[in-house]
Parts: sequence; structure tokens; C-alpha cells
Amino acid sequence: MANRLARMHTAEHILSAIMRIHYAAPKNLELHLNEKKTKCDYQPAVPIDEAAIRRIEAMVNAEIRKNHPVTAFMLSRQEAEQRGYDLWKVPPDAEEIRIVKIGELDAQPCSGQHVTRTAEIGVFRIISHDVRESGRLRLRFRVMDTDANVPVSESVR
Ligand SMILES: [Zn+2]
Repeated sequence: MANRLARMHTAEHILSAIMRIHYAAPKNLELHLNEKKTKCDYQPAVPIDEAAIRRIEAMVNAEIRKNHPVTAFMLSRQEAEQRGYDLWKVPPDAEEIRIVKIGELDAQPCSGQHVTRTAEIGVFRIISHDVRESGRLRLRFRVMDTDANVPVSESVR
């Protein structure tokens, strides 16, 4: 298996693509990932209930299983702007911008580490979700080698 952080990082791209495409939440407003913890905040246009959370999870896993190739290419800042990439997270002094592409699903500027095929991510599980006072939806997720690895106590925490 590829390293966990690369798996989590790639999973976040897929999650954010699903949130954008299906829930009109254009970006992850507060990305935080490390081996122990994940934090992803979205501002969806529609209320997200438990059923929606399970649908989001299922859609992310369906994309993972399609085994999309993950590729990267460089663009100048000007080219990236002209092609309409969302550069809000890119440092203002970056002249060369790395675009990470997940099959035909998603292409975003990113300097992080990723897997080379999405199936390497394994199984994606949303382990908690709550709505902040600001109305933001906060998701925490985990990636696992197989479904059987999830003790129930952890999956509901
Ligand atoms: Zn990335």
C-alpha cells in the first residue's frame, strides 16, 4: 500500500470533487490532514443529513474503485488563471503551479503527495460530521485497507 498520507490526500481531492459536483460546495474551506486526524469543512447549498453522509461516502468509494490514474503537470500562473483553475490556496508568489488530475473527475492545483491510481486509497469512511455555528459542515474521514478493518467503536466516533 502507498503511504497513508498520500492515500488520505488523494481521497480528499475525490471528496471535494463529490461535494462540488453533487452538493454545490465549491471548495474545502479548512483542509487539515495528518496521519491521526482529518478535517474538511464545506459550505453545502443543501442541508446534509445522515443519509447524505452515507451517499457521499458511497460516491467517493465508487470513484476510488474506478481506479482513476492520478497525474500531475505544471502550468505557469498565467496559464492556470486563463484555464480557470481555482488558485485561492496557491501561495501568491508561486509562479509555477502544479495541477493534480484524477482521471476526468477532478483537476486542482496541489503541491502535496498522492497515489498513482485511486484504488491504492483503499476504503474511504466518514467517521464524523457536524454542522458548525457558521453553517459549515465539518467532515472527518479515514482510509482503510479493507472494510473489515473498522472496529464499530471507531467508525462511530
Ligand atoms: Zn493534493
